[in-house]
Amino acid sequence: MTHDGRTGGGLIGDLTGGAAGDVTGSGDVAQPGTGRGGIAGGAMAAAGSGVLEVSHLSVSYGGIGAVRDVSLQVGAGQIVTVIGPNGAGKTTLLNAIMGVHSGRGGLRFSGQDLQGLGIEDRVRAGICLVPEKRELFGTMTVEDNLRLGAFRLRGAGRAAARAAMEDVYTLFPRLRERRGQHAGTLSGGERQMLAMGRALMARPDLLLLDEPSLGLAPLIVRDIFRIVAGLRSRGCAVLLVEQNARAALQVSDYAYVLETGQVVLEGPSAALAGDARVVATYLGAGADAL
Ligand code: ATP
Repeated sequence: MTHDGRTGGGLIGDLTGGAAGDVTGSGDVAQPGTGRGGIAGGAMAAAGSGVLEVSHLSVSYGGIGAVRDVSLQVGAGQIVTVIGPNGAGKTTLLNAIMGVHSGRGGLRFSGQDLQGLGIEDRVRAGICLVPEKRELFGTMTVEDNLRLGAFRLRGAGRAAARAAMEDVYTLFPRLRERRGQHAGTLSGGERQMLAMGRALMARPDLLLLDEPSLGLAPLIVRDIFRIVAGLRSRGCAVLLVEQNARAALQVSDYAYVLETGQVVLEGPSAALAGDARVVATYLGAGADAL
């Protein structure tokens, strides 16, 4: 195991792009709250531009806790994943960070307190969510869907929006080919690309990705994860929620395991991929049934 978040080879090959750096300094898997193996203990940027800090966050639906006392961090330009079974609270966690749900606890991004800010202000602060259901406008073209994503660039002028679109087309050449096609007629993989492209139009510092592999064929999943890995070198951090734990651990620098709303394990992704409990529950035979 290396200390740069790589697992080496495997299902999706080397996707890490080599820019991860040592996220912990220890390489150990840790029980939450022990202070071991946390990102803050290693090479995480000092709390500043593009750093997300979630502390003791709890979210309830009608008195039932879906996220309970969760603390996590995403450093600037890092890929951090949250894995866990159905109903663990992963989507709720992302929605609370984006401001779709309100929660109790600390939420800071780039040193700014997010609590009390609405979704639009969080987008302005540099955070974008790609929801699990992708939520595209089916009767609008690919290009018009992308234009909607340039919301954060409003005021920066048309040239900035055009440059952002050019960047998205460079990242997803398929979207350029389909620019005039209605979003509702795209394949599942293309829809995921468009959902990600639309979020990237805002030039976020942090992308929240909810189950990008859901319902996609393995080859497409591989493409999507390769693009996710490439975001790191563009300085865009990613908080990736995934049930495909194998792919998520391969692409990320650091990982949290969420079960029934609580973080039960955390550590560098490479270390977690070798952890007996994670292997048995999330990577071994039968893990696909989760
Ligand atoms: P999945 O992988 O299946 O999407 P998840 O880990 O993302 O699961 P959540 O969707 O966050 O989990 O759900 C966490 C818990 O909160 C579940 O028990 C779910 O039934 C419940 N829940 C989610 N949304 C709501 C809602 N709007 N109202 C009430 N309960 C909800």
